[in-house]
Amino acid sequence: MKVKIKCWNGVATWLWVANDENCGICRMAFSKVPGDDCPLVWGQCSHCFHMHCILKWLHAQQVQQHCPMCRQEWKFKE
Ligand SMILES: [Zn+2]
Ligand SMILES: [Zn+2]
Repeated sequence: MKVKIKCWNGVATWLWVANDENCGICRMAFSKVPGDDCPLVWGQCSHCFHMHCILKWLHAQQVQQHCPMCRQEWKFKE
């Protein structure tokens, strides 16, 4: 009798969404940002990014500006 062991490389270890500790654009932890000239900003979809990351992202959008995480229209939370 042959026994096959299937390799299962944890697909579930990679968390893409609902992660409040890492910037969804540069993947850097919010707590490990070098320098203090990088404020965090929130969108109305409640996703959070580094200010310089979201500005760079929005600048690259040609038509509609949307959140890189959930694809909703991006609006800065006041
Ligand atoms: Zn970032
Ligand atoms: Zn979002």
